[in-house]
Amino acid sequence: MQGLRKDMIPAAKPVIGDEEVAAAVRVLRGGRVVQGPEVAAFEEEFGALVEGRACIAVNSGTSALHLALLALGLGPGDEVIVPSFSFAASANAVRLAGAEPVFAEVDPDTFCLDPDAVADAVGPRTAALMPVHLYGHPAPMGGLTQLAQRHGLALIEDACQAHATSLHGRPVGTFGDAACFSFYPTKNMHALEGGMVVVPDETLGRTLRLLRNQGMEQRYENEIVGANMRMTDVSAAIGRVQLARLAGWTEQRRANARVLDEGLGSTGLVTPFVADGARHVYHQYTVRVPGGAEARDAVRRELDAAGVGCAVYYPTPIHRLKPYAHLGADLPVTDAAAAGVLSLPVHPQLTADDLEQIVEAADSAARTVGVTR
Ligand SMILES: *Cc1c(COP(=O)(O)O)cnc(C)c1O
Repeated sequence: MQGLRKDMIPAAKPVIGDEEVAAAVRVLRGGRVVQGPEVAAFEEEFGALVEGRACIAVNSGTSALHLALLALGLGPGDEVIVPSFSFAASANAVRLAGAEPVFAEVDPDTFCLDPDAVADAVGPRTAALMPVHLYGHPAPMGGLTQLAQRHGLALIEDACQAHATSLHGRPVGTFGDAACFSFYPTKNMHALEGGMVVVPDETLGRTLRLLRNQGMEQRYENEIVGANMRMTDVSAAIGRVQLARLAGWTEQRRANARVLDEGLGSTGLVTPFVADGARHVYHQYTVRVPGGAEARDAVRRELDAAGVGCAVYYPTPIHRLKPYAHLGADLPVTDAAAAGVLSLPVHPQLTADDLEQIVEAADSAARTVGVTR
């Protein structure tokens, strides 16, 4: 974490410990380094998170989304409804597949797609819905599934921030025609880089396996046009170590969030909302700062000065980024969310002292800036 003060509490802290290093070295000294036994084992083991659905490992979360769209037959002429309040990869994957994103509003409390707004956005070219389980909170899959069924749309879950999230006891990744996870270093578990596509059956699974590897099952007998989006066995071996620890880390994130919820309750900062039946895994612990971007940025500066690393996900909603601005989407709820959010450290490596420091700093920052609900 270059540039951070030594006593700074980092906003995120990816784990690369002795076990990860040992796993990587084992693979490097072994022989099979790409899409070998470690990848197969990682796919098998990841199935435990998604009720045994078929899992196909790829080289990033973006690749996972891209290939899921291709495997479901989405492309030129198709529109895919996505939230603008997400990481750009959500819309980029749609464009890369040759389809066009259509941005719909989010719920101001959960920051996930609002089914009513999605219903309004459905048009003659709509072919798919791509909700994002943002910050580790599940999107409202009941309403979105109904809409998808009513209009005959594919449903793809962007679960890149939501490993082990669930809704009414059902894990995310099991609602859609496909679901995509990321293993980028700052996610709740990582594989240096990597992604996983999760699908209900091996028919679609086989298509995805072809797409990630030049369209080949048997070497040089290419059946379709595919890319090279293979995962390395180094990544898979690290992913397996992390997967084994995910449950413990998730409980720690949730426990940290409870401490922050209690500590911040009277500061004027709006603590994360949890919808009925949602199991939030706090990929981010994101508060809202009333008063707009100026107040939010002022709180952020105060926290920074107090040694608490925080971040804004995402300062510019996708519909205002250069590749998408010409679409002219009008999304006031999304704009307000982008102006108000601030993510505080919640990662599992925080100590009790760190949590206390975060609460004290946030309380003092809110006072200094004059935040009131
Ligand atoms: C991280 C992320 C992605 C992309 O994953 P990469 O592994 O970085 O390619 C896609 N969507 C969301 C919501 C993400 O947070």
